[in-house]
Amino acid sequence: MTKKDFKDYICRPFCMFYKDGQKEEMACQGALVVESLVGQRRISIEQVYLSIKDYQLCLKHKDTLTRYVCRQCPFMKEDCDFQSTSPSHDLEPCGGYMVLACLIENRVIDTRDVDNQK
Ligand code: SF4
Repeated sequence: MTKKDFKDYICRPFCMFYKDGQKEEMACQGALVVESLVGQRRISIEQVYLSIKDYQLCLKHKDTLTRYVCRQCPFMKEDCDFQSTSPSHDLEPCGGYMVLACLIENRVIDTRDVDNQK
């Protein structure tokens, strides 16, 4: 398989903040963790595509993902509305976070997988 840009299989299909053509200096930690798991062949791109965007799953796994993913993210402190101290109820996390929440829920990966990507 040819090497695919993570924006093609994570950001474009799953992230409400992603805009084609927009230059972004930094990547969300959620996307980097998913990309790393794909690079290690721990998960496949096909498994990423099978993920669904489920806000309730994002809340369910928030403690784990905040601890092992968001705390390493350059957007955590200021730019991430989902992780702000007063998030509105409809603000989604980044696409990588949504994929990780789904993969954890479906037991494709577990806490050790996300912890090992720091
Ligand atoms: S949800 Fe926010 S803080 Fe967490 S990885 Fe995504 S952009 Fe970063």
